[in-house]
Amino acid sequence: MAAETKMVKDSYSDDNDEEENFSDDGDWGDWEAADKDDDDVLESDFVCLFCDSRFASCDSLFEHCHLSHGFDFHGARKALKLDFYASFKLINYIRSQVAENKRWSWGALQKCQLEAKDVNFPWDEEKYLKPFLQEDSLLYSFADDEEEEDEEEALDREDLIEDLQKLGDLSIVDDEAIGESSMTNNGKCKDVNRISNCDDVKQIVNGKDKEPRACDGRLVGRNIRKVNENYFGSYSSFGIHREMISDKVRTEAYRDALLKNPSLLSGSVVMDVGCGTGILSLFAAQAGASRVVAVEASEKMAKVATKIAKDNKVFNDKEHNGVLEVANSMVEELEKSIKIQPHSVDVLVSEWMGYCLLYESMLTSVLYARDRWLKPGGAILPDTATMFVAGFGKGATSLPFWEDVYGFDMSSIGKEILEDTARIPIVDVIEERDLVTQPALLQSFDLAAMKQDEVDFTATATLEPTEAETEARLCHGVVLWFDTGFTDRFCKENPTVLSTSPYTPPTHWAQTVLTFQEPISVAPATVLSGDDRLGAVGTKECPASSIQLRVSVARASEHRSIDVSLEATGVSSKGQKRRWPVQIFNL
Ligand code: SAH
Repeated sequence: MAAETKMVKDSYSDDNDEEENFSDDGDWGDWEAADKDDDDVLESDFVCLFCDSRFASCDSLFEHCHLSHGFDFHGARKALKLDFYASFKLINYIRSQVAENKRWSWGALQKCQLEAKDVNFPWDEEKYLKPFLQEDSLLYSFADDEEEEDEEEALDREDLIEDLQKLGDLSIVDDEAIGESSMTNNGKCKDVNRISNCDDVKQIVNGKDKEPRACDGRLVGRNIRKVNENYFGSYSSFGIHREMISDKVRTEAYRDALLKNPSLLSGSVVMDVGCGTGILSLFAAQAGASRVVAVEASEKMAKVATKIAKDNKVFNDKEHNGVLEVANSMVEELEKSIKIQPHSVDVLVSEWMGYCLLYESMLTSVLYARDRWLKPGGAILPDTATMFVAGFGKGATSLPFWEDVYGFDMSSIGKEILEDTARIPIVDVIEERDLVTQPALLQSFDLAAMKQDEVDFTATATLEPTEAETEARLCHGVVLWFDTGFTDRFCKENPTVLSTSPYTPPTHWAQTVLTFQEPISVAPATVLSGDDRLGAVGTKECPASSIQLRVSVARASEHRSIDVSLEATGVSSKGQKRRWPVQIFNL
């Protein structure tokens, strides 16, 4: 899984064109342009909420609304304590009511609001976040003069703008309309999630030279505020599910684990944590499970999974007697949705992995489900997760591209990019041939036994230059990846491994690339006997014969993102050491 992260990466996907074009689709490109440059806003661009009059400024518009229509926007905001979001929705609500010719009276509304204090405002609904008018300058200007907008509110606005970008492309489907309606182009969906909606961030992954601005920690941090809301919202897009399902390495590993281990699955009670479309639950039902509880926090996807289970005749409720039931709930709150005894599940399955394994922290939800619902000795699929690391060379950077541009040397650009990427994790597919060290194990997790707080870790690893190397090569940084194992502990008949390594076919997780501030020259001790009397360790005069790494991965203060710290020490063949300053990356 891994919504936001997953979508950051699109070089793997065959839907590239579609996603590349995303920002050009729909109306948001236009809107962004208008927002960026206020001078572009046409004169008389502000349309009255109640009539066709147009005004050159918000102030004159609001004055008109007050005098001609008895509606004091700022007064209403103050009286009802409407924040930016609520005011934004109010504008869309009024416009929609007026367009429907509904008689809309502010006075009457206020009265009923005051009488029934707990009643929600009629504009509270999410749908009013979607601009009613396609280009409504008012929405982006009504709060411009507010001097006291605090940082929180400013961030809320930015979040809102991103939410709006998402909503702008998201169809709201009801139970009956699931499927076709949200899809376009033969099922290809233009819905993409928050991060990939953001052009900047999308660039993190694709082009080795596009990423610098993209993965700015603050930008990512901002994107993942209001985390759960946005996180589950991001999974409401079909595009992300298509991308996951189309990742054959991923989906077939799960299918094999579920279908090729009948002694585990047959007659068992299965829980699928984060079912999405329900694909893993469907496999479990196909494998002969007696009960499959598919848990999904995204309301839309829970509806989708229900519909799909019905369509495939495996749904279970009062009217259907299949084996698969869908609970629209966070797994942490499952009791509120369905009847299920603690420790009654035989097999817990989940596709919880994010970029760099841990980005998004869904693992803790799976561990929670394990502790609450799994029988003692029950199976968890996958049951192991292992992180690996290796050093990469110039071929994995943008340097070769810039060194020869139609015969011209543009390597200064490449160098600048590399400097920037030393602060930014990049998700990209790295080719085996671009690795300059052997892989090393960084951390392993036993999902059947690990504790929640073990998700954050510090580990060390030693990178040895690739043996076949006959000369010193520059190691520009490290690449991280993971494998998850469906081991013979539970999958007795057919254990399997899902690998996201550079040595196996690429997956949508690609690899995570951390670039050193300065490349480290490496060579096998047998090739070059480095001595730091000739030059500092890690330079071509004294290549390192190994690089000792210390890597920490911790969930960042912005829940669901992670901070990765990287410390590298070059060791010469004579044992001399040179340590580089710690680098911190936020993903
Ligand atoms: N199992 C599906 C989807 C994997 S993506 C597949 O393999 O294709 C992960 C899904 O888990 C998303 O749909 C997300 O909304 C859901 N999810 C994440 N955390 C959850 C939680 N704590 N409780 C319930 N669902 C969760």
